[in-house]
Amino acid sequence: MSGIARRRWIAKKVSRAAVAAAFSTPLARGSHDVARVLTYHRFGRIPLDPFCVPPFEFDSHIKYVASQGLGASLDELEAFVRGDRALTKDAVVITSDDGFRSVWTNMLPILRNYDVPAVAYVTPSLIRETDALPSHLPSDQPEHYMSWTELGRLAEHGVAIGCHSFTHRSLAQMPLREAREQAEKAMELFRARLGRDVLSFAYPYGTRADYSDETARMLREVGYTTAFTSQHGPIRKGMDPMALPRVKVESGDPTWLFPRLCHGAMDAWRFVDQGLWRVQLSR
Ligand SMILES: [Zn+2]
Repeated sequence: MSGIARRRWIAKKVSRAAVAAAFSTPLARGSHDVARVLTYHRFGRIPLDPFCVPPFEFDSHIKYVASQGLGASLDELEAFVRGDRALTKDAVVITSDDGFRSVWTNMLPILRNYDVPAVAYVTPSLIRETDALPSHLPSDQPEHYMSWTELGRLAEHGVAIGCHSFTHRSLAQMPLREAREQAEKAMELFRARLGRDVLSFAYPYGTRADYSDETARMLREVGYTTAFTSQHGPIRKGMDPMALPRVKVESGDPTWLFPRLCHGAMDAWRFVDQGLWRVQLSR
């Protein structure tokens, strides 16, 4: 890992901790009016990879969620957004994106241990046909994806399955007709392979450039009932169910940060996130 990457990592960790420290409220206060959907990607020990959370860190997160009774299911969150039910104060929904194999090997046992619900958003065209692992890993892939057998068993163990599009491409960066094909093919494949309807969607990449009013309308027409972005923020009753924000969880944050993140300390991170996006666009 280069010196620049290490310095960037440290700068980001310091920024996240500073935001969390600045916006922390007393943990006991909480609110019935907001819920947070937390985004994870992979689980393991890869140094300086924010998307790969070590199992011991994830264990401490889920232990906290369970001990405070914060865990909510996707169904409960959807009913909360519609205004049909209340949730516990500062409820959180655990989600993972992409469908990597560590969701099966590392995430599931910890969720089961604490009996906390979760959603796995997966890209069905990337799910492996056979259980045997290929002998080599493509260079652009950090780990293998789950197999259909593993995904089916994940669902049997109570993890809700969500759709992360058919291929992992930005829906708003392709013609709408093509985006509709992605949404329809994914729904059909889930129905055929899992024998169930998968009606919740998470936009690949999920930045403001990756979804639009048109993609939201199209997903609703195809039959999806909720869609999550990677925009940072809490969820309130009555929000547009097709553009729901989430809160990213990263590895390497100090241990005091996660409980505060559950209670809103990282909600303000969106201003940093949007700033970074503008810097990237202006390049
Ligand atoms: Zn993704």
